[in-house]
Amino acid sequence: MEEKVVGRFAPSPSGRLHLGNLFCSLLAWLSVKSRGGRVVLRIEDLDRARTTRAFADQLERDLEFLGLFWDEGGSGGGPHASYYQSDRSPLYEQCLAALEAQGLVYPCFCSRAQLHAAQAPHAADGEPIYTGRCRGLSAAEVRRRALARSPALRLKVPDETVGLIDGHYGPFSQNLARDCGDFILRRSDGVFAYQLAVVADDAAMGVTEVVRGRDLLASAPRQIYLYRLLGARPPAFCHAPLLLAPDGRRLSKRDADLGLDALRAQGLSAADITGRLAFAAGLLDRPQPASPEQLLPLFSWDKVPTRDIPLPAQLFR
Ligand code: GLU
Repeated sequence: MEEKVVGRFAPSPSGRLHLGNLFCSLLAWLSVKSRGGRVVLRIEDLDRARTTRAFADQLERDLEFLGLFWDEGGSGGGPHASYYQSDRSPLYEQCLAALEAQGLVYPCFCSRAQLHAAQAPHAADGEPIYTGRCRGLSAAEVRRRALARSPALRLKVPDETVGLIDGHYGPFSQNLARDCGDFILRRSDGVFAYQLAVVADDAAMGVTEVVRGRDLLASAPRQIYLYRLLGARPPAFCHAPLLLAPDGRRLSKRDADLGLDALRAQGLSAADITGRLAFAAGLLDRPQPASPEQLLPLFSWDKVPTRDIPLPAQLFR
């Protein structure tokens, strides 16, 4: 029997969703629903200082407005106790313990300034590649330093190339030691890191396909490595091109003028907006109104470009 496709929306409620987030959600929904699958909504609110419940509730309304309905999760819940990462620490603790049991976790006391030292090489995501400074600390040294500051926890990575065949971008690989470095599992303030939480949750929630912006392609090898260490099967990854503002900038949550409210204020309907997003994605020849349901028979990853897509200014403002 063919395995059921399970996709997900995994937004961070740190602001209103921008058109790029909605574009990616539309592709994730179409990719899963065109094969009869299910969509899980998980709210990635680990960083309580940067996320709010009000934004989480709002993003549900925005997805629903566009007709991007999910089958499980969010405020509606489902078989998992909670779909808010801020409630899911016991699972992350368990995963951390499993990695600790393999002798792969160590405390890191480095300050921000030390990490961002000018000479440090940077990874594809712009983060400095960790030099391994705290990797070899003795137990006594760890105890001594822990009196002064609480450490972050890092995963030791091997000098090994980990690759994947992305469903849209094709083969992609990184040498973990050279391109990523030992990465953070839990921050010094106790907040679990994205890499650990996303893998723990996608595995626990039975996600078989991850669709997200191509800016996260560089996280996939680290995540695949975590799947291996945790004894879970990685999902298929399919990264999507990014939507750019008409001037070529990356969209951010601060681009309120390119958000749903601004478009609705101009009188655009939900189908106008999804139709224009589908036109930008190469699924329609003209920017005509189309609901997600109507787009289903037209969807194919082959039509979606791999280069990033500047929003046609005349259509979105
Ligand atoms: N929560 C992440 C974001 O909003 C997405 C994580 C993922 O899709 O893996 O950027």
